[in-house]
Amino acid sequence: MKSKFKAMVLSCMDPRFQHLVHNHLKKKKLTGKYSAFTIAGAAVGVTHNKFKKWHHTFYDNLATSIQLHKIEKLIVINHKDCGAAKIANGKKEFTPANEKKELNVIALDSKITKF
Ligand SMILES: [Zn+2]
Repeated sequence: MKSKFKAMVLSCMDPRFQHLVHNHLKKKKLTGKYSAFTIAGAAVGVTHNKFKKWHHTFYDNLATSIQLHKIEKLIVINHKDCGAAKIANGKKEFTPANEKKELNVIALDSKITKF
């Protein structure tokens, strides 16, 4: 039986981007069809060693959503000028090169959207 739920969405807690995430998912016709995991840094928060204590919680939630909602996809939404990525990187400013490096750390079979 095919699930009515499509994915888990991993996104950053940054208040500047909540409406963009919501609008993007609405445009993709995913309203009501995804579970949400919102954490500082999105992909950075669940992969970088600086936030190691958060990783297990993310994977437990992903496993729970797979079990409960029968999702088959993880959608990762990162954004530029991410404060958590700056903390992880140890820099106050990001260049396009080191920001791209931080955002390419996730190694899951996932769709990645960046704002
Ligand atoms: Zn962020």
